[in-house]
Amino acid sequence: MEETKNFRVPLKDADGISQDVALPVEYHQRFEGRRVFDDELFAQFNGCELVRISHICDDGFSVIGEEINSFNNSQNHLIAIEVQVCGYHLWPEYETVFERNLYRIINYADGIKHKGQRSDLSLRFSKKAVERGFTLKTLAHLIYSGLKSEFKDIADLVNVRIISDPLKAKSFCQGAEAVYKVRENRVKGLRDSEVEAFYSCTICQSNSPHHVCIIAPERTGACGSYDYLGAKASVALNPFGPNTMVLKGLPEGTRPGQWEGINDFVYEASGGKLEEMNIYSIVDNPPPFSDCMECISALIPSINGVVVFDRRYDGMTPIGLNFADMQDCIHKGASVTGLMGHARINIIQGAYLKHEGGIKRIIWMPSILKKDLADEFNELAAALGEPGLLDKIADETITVTEEETVVYNRQKNHPFFKMPPVI
Ligand code: SF4
Repeated sequence: MEETKNFRVPLKDADGISQDVALPVEYHQRFEGRRVFDDELFAQFNGCELVRISHICDDGFSVIGEEINSFNNSQNHLIAIEVQVCGYHLWPEYETVFERNLYRIINYADGIKHKGQRSDLSLRFSKKAVERGFTLKTLAHLIYSGLKSEFKDIADLVNVRIISDPLKAKSFCQGAEAVYKVRENRVKGLRDSEVEAFYSCTICQSNSPHHVCIIAPERTGACGSYDYLGAKASVALNPFGPNTMVLKGLPEGTRPGQWEGINDFVYEASGGKLEEMNIYSIVDNPPPFSDCMECISALIPSINGVVVFDRRYDGMTPIGLNFADMQDCIHKGASVTGLMGHARINIIQGAYLKHEGGIKRIIWMPSILKKDLADEFNELAAALGEPGLLDKIADETITVTEEETVVYNRQKNHPFFKMPPVI
């Protein structure tokens, strides 16, 4: 077995004195998919992470707020990871590449579990790691050192702040939402038919074996972090990394959404588990599930309507399950007819259920998702000849049962009643 190496990096402290610091826990790829179970848990934090490319950076790391020992047994404390990176050869698109790498950099540390991304960040610290001396400052140090060593040719200065002060973390995460939104809009207008290649991502294979995302202009990766330009930037940075450019090749199958080049790649990258993938369908070899997906769309076959789960909403849905229950039911990395993992933004991108009628199939989604997507959703609905569609879709403030959802949809004259069956 390969020897586990301590993570040692030269760095300067606040006084500019050079130090060689080692992590107090083991650090290795084999810990990447390991969980921190409830009986091992010292503290869990939820919050956000954001990396910005900047022209002016400090170089270092710090903690804003209380240290880890103040959060013993804490289950839901707010936290923010703020990173600035400076360098002459950086593009704005690299921000998402750096950001997605935080997952791996942190998860290699034994006893620290990073899950989710952007505003869905969850961080779990084990008792053992904290007893050994792992602190929030260690986390900041780890991110600082990981980014510096991983991207040493382009990341000249890196500044990491772990914000555990709840008010400051809240304010930072609110500001981060605007940045995520700007990023989401940057591929708007680019069509799948206008490009010869898509991009793949296999980062989630560490926790969802065989999982492959195909990232197209009209389909952002299921976690919402990697859009088409972000994946392209990642390949430019690291051609042998977890993202690959995949030539589409000729269309394949009886319905659009499959291409020879994409299917060949998916088959190989999934170790033969996925023979085909149709990024336009929820019933015809739909994209598989990962542990990081922001949403799950679930078809109710008896009524041909779709219920959308959002990771941020943990209440009941008309399917009779909440997000966590639904996620637990699904074999990660698998393609399941009638179910699809996806990013929130996918709902208003062109690939979403293109074969099944797109957003006109949605009969229920949580109010937080309706609120987030309202402007773009209304724009798209109007373009589809269905202005006011959002109001015809039920949410948890109206009902969480299938029967009452259908009654509500009918009262509102929802267009899905006039659509042909999906299967
Ligand atoms: S969900 Fe997809 S795009 Fe996002 S990190 Fe996982 S494999 Fe990559």
